[in-house]
Amino acid sequence: MKVTLLGSGDAIGMPVPMCNCEYCQKSEKRRRSGILIETDGSTVVVDISPDIKEQLHHEEVYDVDGFLVTHFHYDHFWGIQELNHVALTDEDHVFNPEDFDFNGWHDRELKIIGNKTTEEHLEEYHLHGRVKESGNIDFELLEKNQEMSFHDLEISTFGIDHGEEGTTQGYVVQKGEKKVVFAPDAWELEESNVYNDADLFFVEGQLFDAEGHANQEVLEEQIKEANPQRVVLLSNSEHLNQMHTEKMKEAAEEKGFEIWSDYTSIEL
Ligand SMILES: [Zn+2]
Ligand SMILES: [Zn+2]
Ligand SMILES: [Zn+2]
Repeated sequence: MKVTLLGSGDAIGMPVPMCNCEYCQKSEKRRRSGILIETDGSTVVVDISPDIKEQLHHEEVYDVDGFLVTHFHYDHFWGIQELNHVALTDEDHVFNPEDFDFNGWHDRELKIIGNKTTEEHLEEYHLHGRVKESGNIDFELLEKNQEMSFHDLEISTFGIDHGEEGTTQGYVVQKGEKKVVFAPDAWELEESNVYNDADLFFVEGQLFDAEGHANQEVLEEQIKEANPQRVVLLSNSEHLNQMHTEKMKEAAEEKGFEIWSDYTSIEL
């Protein structure tokens, strides 16, 4: 199981727009939230960030079996707008499709897995008529505290307290003994034992002075109790924390956590 961090940034990403502070000037680029999981039998992306096009091209991923979505917010789901055209039919791309060779890159099914509020946002904001009519968007409902088998993976979910009741869920993706957890935007994690004893635990990283999301002490305690092998922080922002990258990494390490650069990957 190969796991790649697609985006380690917060909702705005680094650098933030229209800012010339020293942190934005010097930081490496941090894209919006997501990970890629690849096994012999499946390619899965967790969260569809607005940076998804660049992220998939960077990793040379041209087929995704399923996109798992934590919640409907811009930085986690609105990259669906970047993917929509993949689902359009030839006729809907141009009026004279017979004159073009599309190389089969579109009229393809997009499989999305997520909860009801995400599906409602998809219906309401993200699918213009022709994408909907193509029938190529396959949304499968998976609520928190549910599980499903998907190709060679076992997927389970748990609730994340993100300040709005019932909107956000974390994912546990397992293949055999290997377990990855993805839990962005958490004030706290809702109680569950599915996220215990993970090999790799990606989690909300605003554990420093800038309190954008986390109830710091509670979340840190929950992470420790979950007993993961390695903890990698999400939602990192040098701009918000007013720290350069090295200092932010050191601060994380003091707590036993890691901050990775985007596109870092490991084999589990
Ligand atoms: Zn977010
Ligand atoms: Zn800045
Ligand atoms: Zn959010």
